[in-house]
Amino acid sequence: MNIKNNDFQFAVIGNPVKHSLSPLLHNHCFEENHLKYKFSSILIEDISKLKETILSHNLLGVNITHPFKEVAFEACDKVSKDCTDIGAVNTIIVRNDKLFGYNTDGDGFLNSIRDFNEPHSVLIIGAGGASKAISHALDKANFNVDILNRSKEKLEYFTDKGLECFGPNDFLCKEYDLVINATSAGFEDNELPAPKSVLRKLLKHARYAVDIIYNKKTPFLKLCDEYDIVSKDGKDMLIEQAVLAHLLFIDYSRSESEIRNSMKDALDWFLAFFNIFKPGFMAF
Ligand code: NDP
Repeated sequence: MNIKNNDFQFAVIGNPVKHSLSPLLHNHCFEENHLKYKFSSILIEDISKLKETILSHNLLGVNITHPFKEVAFEACDKVSKDCTDIGAVNTIIVRNDKLFGYNTDGDGFLNSIRDFNEPHSVLIIGAGGASKAISHALDKANFNVDILNRSKEKLEYFTDKGLECFGPNDFLCKEYDLVINATSAGFEDNELPAPKSVLRKLLKHARYAVDIIYNKKTPFLKLCDEYDIVSKDGKDMLIEQAVLAHLLFIDYSRSESEIRNSMKDALDWFLAFFNIFKPGFMAF
């Protein structure tokens, strides 16, 4: 592969990748900032060629999406402490043919709940990549985080970090300020992330709930509507992780709030005019 003459300098890499909203968000920011950069998407079949692909396209920066965040971690020459703690990379900056990995998912989530009034105790349902990034950021910010997952196999990472973890049969249904659905239940199906009776008990005591799936009223969010709590989908997280990635792309040459506003405009416009799209967009 020797592709040095493509007309884009940034890209999102994944499989599938065609529904990704990253090009929309980042290109809008580049345009508004009068930067002559273009952001595209690259579908990779053979992930062992990640570094080769990035270098052969002469890219300056990359977003990594499902299912390659863990492999990207291995492919980087250097990674941030957050990446080491999470074991995954979602943003890469290229410097002198070396890949520098970052992860903006966790801090992006944290920024997305700034409008919540200090929830202290949090239950994250799910134990996949998104849950790792979110729990890491919340734990770092001194939230009290517990994890519930339908299977016990993936809980080791979280117990090793000192978090209280539950499988389906040993869940002590405590009271939590914030309940997060970080599973893919409800993404392509109409599943709840946990039994309805358990969710009802949780939501009765919660003040806030987030489903990180976005642009879809999931069964979890519908259930939240039956309770007097503030709930939101994953759109704010999508924007916030992209804002942090964009700051890395442009080396902090523009303010965070300007980028956020640009991206919100682009996404609102897109969702308003293209609402015919159904859930299935990628996180990036
Ligand atoms: P993973 O595949 O890494 O993990 C999926 C998790 O969901 C696992 O814990 C799995 O449990 C659980 N799960 C799947 N189906 C069900 C079900 N029917 N009932 C209960 N639990 C279930 O995915 P990610 O962590 O990468 O992503 C999770 C979701 O978050 C996706 O829908 C993704 O689109 C969304 N996301 C949104 C972002 C945003 O910016 N808004 C960013 C990143 C992700 P088990 O271990 O038992 O298999």
